[in-house]
Amino acid sequence: MASFRKPCVVVGGGVAGLTSALALRRAGFGVRVLESDDSFNVRRMGVPIWGGALHVLDRLGLGAEIRKRAVPITQCEIASLTKTLSVKQRLSKVVARFTLEEYSQGSAADAYVLDRAELQQILMDALPSGTVWRNTRFGGIVRAPVGAPAQSLQQLLTVQVLLKNVREPLRVETPLLVGADGKRSLVRGHMGVASTSQMRYAGFTQWQGMVDLTRLILENRMTRQQCLETFESTTAREIWGQGGRFGYMMMWPGMLYWYCTCNAQSNEVFLRPFKPKLLERFRDWPQECIELIQACDEATIFRNNAYNWASSDLLSLRGEREMMRMPTFRGRAVLVGNAGYSFTYNMHQQTCLAMEDAFALAQLLSQYGLKDNIALRIYSEDRIMRTRAHGRSAARLVGIARWEYPFLLRLRDRILDKVSSHARLRKYLSLIGFFEAGDLPISPISREGK
Ligand SMILES: Cc1cc2nc3c(=O)[nH]c(=O)nc-3n(C[C@H](O)[C@H](O)[C@H](O)COP(=O)(O)OP(=O)(O)OC[C@H]3O[C@@H](n4cnc5c(N)ncnc54)[C@H](O)[C@@H]3O)c2cc1C
Repeated sequence: MASFRKPCVVVGGGVAGLTSALALRRAGFGVRVLESDDSFNVRRMGVPIWGGALHVLDRLGLGAEIRKRAVPITQCEIASLTKTLSVKQRLSKVVARFTLEEYSQGSAADAYVLDRAELQQILMDALPSGTVWRNTRFGGIVRAPVGAPAQSLQQLLTVQVLLKNVREPLRVETPLLVGADGKRSLVRGHMGVASTSQMRYAGFTQWQGMVDLTRLILENRMTRQQCLETFESTTAREIWGQGGRFGYMMMWPGMLYWYCTCNAQSNEVFLRPFKPKLLERFRDWPQECIELIQACDEATIFRNNAYNWASSDLLSLRGEREMMRMPTFRGRAVLVGNAGYSFTYNMHQQTCLAMEDAFALAQLLSQYGLKDNIALRIYSEDRIMRTRAHGRSAARLVGIARWEYPFLLRLRDRILDKVSSHARLRKYLSLIGFFEAGDLPISPISREGK
């Protein structure tokens, strides 16, 4: 097993950073995590954990804990808005439904929903205290002085670390810098592979919130019976309408996580309060959507904008595709999770991808060490392959879900109705990111080497 004398530096204490730290430690490396926040001020929301990510958590010894705390998903449903003449409110009609058991042909396929804050806490608790340096910001990679031997650059990186309330930055030497600092990654900027200024608002936004179902009942918004019938505890449900989607799933018994996505101009919907704007947007959607928005406190509704990548070359219009081919490492610096050109199309896949990245990287490093950067190269190539296919299909899904013209919506419903349930199931599961354990992004080369 490979090992370095100095610890690896992981920038960012989100899901990607903590999983990287854990996986690297399990693979025998020393790790320091730099986190700019003083506490883990995590926005609470439901995170679906699909097969590949569960496999990672199992391998890290956390699978049992996750299963204990999370709510299983056994069924996914897509419903479409239908017009009714008699009532103002629209109803929804299920156009696709499938169980995960059907997909796994008998043996129960595992998928769960968990509170993101809880996931982060579980990861954090599994690390020895002192691994994460809070209130500590990555300030940049210190360039080697002109004339320094090129060899030394390959061996160690010097990283500038800024501690809160301390004027003088620290300099820390590390054999490996892992950028897990989110979609506006500073590490990525310092690696010089892509600039955050290339990120463009993609024309749609996601909002999300959590609702205690007893509140719906106590406020007479819905009866207990209506709640039981509408919010089936192990079904992930998504309603597709004109230019938007509304989905919900149980996060823990009695606590529902909802999200909605819609086309929006950049200046239209970004400012709080979100609630009145969402109620206006979704006013003729099914009653449960309105009630869920109504029952949420404004402060607990969060927004997450979708971004595209513009081309670095102004003459090229193929920025997004270009980004999907960009390497996620340079020298001894490597990107994981959202820092590595997150595609924000299908937001429910980001957390799973972050965990899979972290695990794949640690596995490759334990196998190849840092010799000639083979591990980083394989990691980067595998990730490109995986995210490219996923990004393309997710873009297609989101594109279709954003349709606004009524005749296109009718066509969409017809297609969903006609496609066989098995084909729909496979397509949908690949879109939301249900990867089987064997599909983890480890290249054939590394598999052979095991
Ligand atoms: C509002 C919102 C809703 C979302 N909804 C979902 C969802 O429903 N499902 C889902 O799967 N994903 C969702 N995501 C995405 C998801 O939360 C994460 O993006 C995903 O878990 C990947 O995490 P990450 O660790 O790569 O990045 P992040 O979670 O962004 O973590 C990056 C960390 O790096 C730290 N950091 C940044 N810069 C520095 C620096 N210079 N020095 C030190 N530390 C630094 C930050 O403080 C942060 O803790 C959502 C994101 C947002 C913002």
